[in-house]
Amino acid sequence: MSGWREKAAKYHNDLKQTMIRYRGKILQTSHIREIIEQHPVLAKDSQFVYPSDHCINHTNKGACYCALTEEAIFEQIRHGIYRVRKT
Ligand SMILES: [Zn+2]
Repeated sequence: MSGWREKAAKYHNDLKQTMIRYRGKILQTSHIREIIEQHPVLAKDSQFVYPSDHCINHTNKGACYCALTEEAIFEQIRHGIYRVRKT
C-alpha cells in the first residue's frame, strides 16, 4: 500500500534537481513528461514520476511526502498546468 508513495519519494530529489532550471516557469504536463523522459535516472521509472505527486496545492493517493508542504516542487495552476516552485 505504501509502495507507490515510496516510489514517488524515491525520485523526489532527482526531480527537484532536474526542475531547478525551470524555476518560476509554467509548464504543461506533457512538457514535464518530456523533461522526465530525457533524464537518465527518472526515465527508467518514469511511470512513477508525476508532477501531481509533488504539489503544494494538490495531493493524491501515493503522493510524495512533499505534497502540501513547502518542500513541494510544483504548484498546480489548473489541470495539466504546473508552476515550478522557487524552493
Ligand atoms: Zn516530492
